[in-house]
Amino acid sequence: MLGQQPRVIRAGCLIDGSGQPAVRNAAVVIENGVITFVGPEDAPEVPAVPDEQQLDARDGTVLPGIIDTHVHLAFNTRKAAAVPEIIEQTQTDDLTLLGGRVIQAAQAALSGGTTTLRDCGAPGFVTLRIRDLIASRFISGPRLLASGMPITTTGGHLWWCGLEADSRDDVIRATRMLIREGVDFIKIMATGGGMTVGTNTAQPQYDADQLAAIVREARRLGTPSEAGRSGRLTTAHSHCAAGHLNCMAAGVDMIEHCSWNTPEGGTRFEPEVAKQFVDHGTYISITLGNTPRDVTTRSPEADLPPRLREQCDIVRQKHDLGVRIVFNSDASAPIKQVEEFPRTVAVVTAHAGLSPEMAVHTITGRSADAIGLDGLIGLLAPGHLADVLVVDGDVSADVAALSNTRWVLRDGVILSDGHGVLATRTTLTPGW
Ligand SMILES: [Zn+2]
Repeated sequence: MLGQQPRVIRAGCLIDGSGQPAVRNAAVVIENGVITFVGPEDAPEVPAVPDEQQLDARDGTVLPGIIDTHVHLAFNTRKAAAVPEIIEQTQTDDLTLLGGRVIQAAQAALSGGTTTLRDCGAPGFVTLRIRDLIASRFISGPRLLASGMPITTTGGHLWWCGLEADSRDDVIRATRMLIREGVDFIKIMATGGGMTVGTNTAQPQYDADQLAAIVREARRLGTPSEAGRSGRLTTAHSHCAAGHLNCMAAGVDMIEHCSWNTPEGGTRFEPEVAKQFVDHGTYISITLGNTPRDVTTRSPEADLPPRLREQCDIVRQKHDLGVRIVFNSDASAPIKQVEEFPRTVAVVTAHAGLSPEMAVHTITGRSADAIGLDGLIGLLAPGHLADVLVVDGDVSADVAALSNTRWVLRDGVILSDGHGVLATRTTLTPGW
């Protein structure tokens, strides 16, 4: 990467990830893997470079690489058809198989336009090992942040990943152990989960005092390697209002899923609780399911499956309240494929009434904020790493174009042409 000539991407449409309106006829200048200029393509800051140092996307859209803040790369979604099968495989597969699966899923996400992944739970520490292999350029892949094993109660949600902790002392010990092993953040199971038989999604697994003990230890110990922020961030899986309230009382940074299951069965959205997310500055993730292939951004409302319609409605309400929503995939829990993420985001945001620029913001700039990597990734802006997605078509006119991947760049290097990962970064020759 040293001493690279400047490179220029010419964009018919450019969405910078901040939520601001798209601009036309723009250019992005990249030097040594970092963005040095974003602006009009005829600006004096845009150097005249030979054709081989330019990417021509004058008929396409240029935006920041997508950040998927919740995945489970070690779970097998490719062949397994049922949850028990996934659990059994995850428990019995050896490290080589698990590692291979993590690499395969990470590279699939990359070829779909995702340049940063945050793995929210896997057995043992396999995701940390793969994270390190990618970071050292031994294999090609997206930037990867990993929590290793989630902290859960005995028999609690994802207990089979291997880290059960019940008392306040237990969870403090678990947090310290995870940080000793090098996790990037702490994932907590604040309520039961649909995937784990015998847990209760409508009841908390931990009280606020136990959650606060985890948050305190995470903040006290260390700085995420790339973020430069004080302390490690915490994120909690929570499916019910009581769980959300415990998380907020404890100062958990982000709530995953944020569904509204009630002890009586069914769901009930509670705007009063949602307003508190705004007061606490808590990030909320909406984990998107696999949207059926025949449902598009232009499908009539009546054709949406009921669950999707309900999800879009809650997204709209939370967004209107000013909640800091982040979309993520939760691939593969249980059967959602990582590369489907951009298409699903497009469908849900279109039906929830979010603008294309806001849709992009939730999976780029705001996601970077949520995971503590703001200032480094998530925006097309000077000083940011050149993680860039180029797609065919005009995303600002039709958000469905988000999934028309043409090129995916990480650190200014093209790693995918939308049909798979091109080469390991170690073997790339000078040029793009
Ligand atoms: Zn999950």
